[in-house]
Amino acid sequence: MSSTPAAGLRIGGLTPLTSVDYPGELAAVVYCRGCPWRCPYCHNADLQDPHGAPAPGWAEVLAFLQKRRGLLDAVVFSGGEPTAQHALAPAMAEVRALGFKVGLHTGGAYPRRLAALLPLVDWVGLDIKALPEDYPAVTGAAGSGERAWQSLGMLLDAGVQLEVRTTPMPGLDDPASLQALLTRLADKGVTHYALQQCRDTSRRPDPLPLPRRLTDAGPEIGAARRAFRRFTLRGV
Ligand code: SF4
Repeated sequence: MSSTPAAGLRIGGLTPLTSVDYPGELAAVVYCRGCPWRCPYCHNADLQDPHGAPAPGWAEVLAFLQKRRGLLDAVVFSGGEPTAQHALAPAMAEVRALGFKVGLHTGGAYPRRLAALLPLVDWVGLDIKALPEDYPAVTGAAGSGERAWQSLGMLLDAGVQLEVRTTPMPGLDDPASLQALLTRLADKGVTHYALQQCRDTSRRPDPLPLPRRLTDAGPEIGAARRAFRRFTLRGV
């Protein structure tokens, strides 16, 4: 077992090969445990809890990656919220030392930690869930919108390769709400943007409103294609 600080990374799963999680690159995805937020439509609710046996452990991930040198381009750290863990930075450093690019999926919950990670990251997929003032209705956490949007501003200022993505939650997925969000993002300087179809995958016992089905013909989609240099409609 590795004795580096990265060995403390709590992992909930590994995807050995994907072509959709890091644009233009063949990647493996390491799913990190723990998230401070509780979105009702969380796509990976099993990872919200930071505890649980690492599966796999970091040493196994490293051994896997060593065998994939020359076959994979990149490793993406996803979650959960990867930046919740202090072991993320040393894990990224070890991945870079093996010659892989490093991608990060984050909701921007920890802007200062994210800033410290920038020298280790080649590409970021940042979830912006809503306008800042609407965040508590999505995440259940006061101040979450300010944190996410602060992270966005910091990533834009740093010039890191960035895709902003939104999975619109029911209640915030009508065309007018989405148009207001798209306008704010474009005004802030976002150029690469994806709208992702929300699905109720949370297995919650209480009934949740159904997400609106996004379609290519939606009025907000045409506006998005005009507002962003690269726009992707995903999962429809
Ligand atoms: S921020 Fe992401 S991982 Fe955390 S609860 Fe929300 S959807 Fe799930």
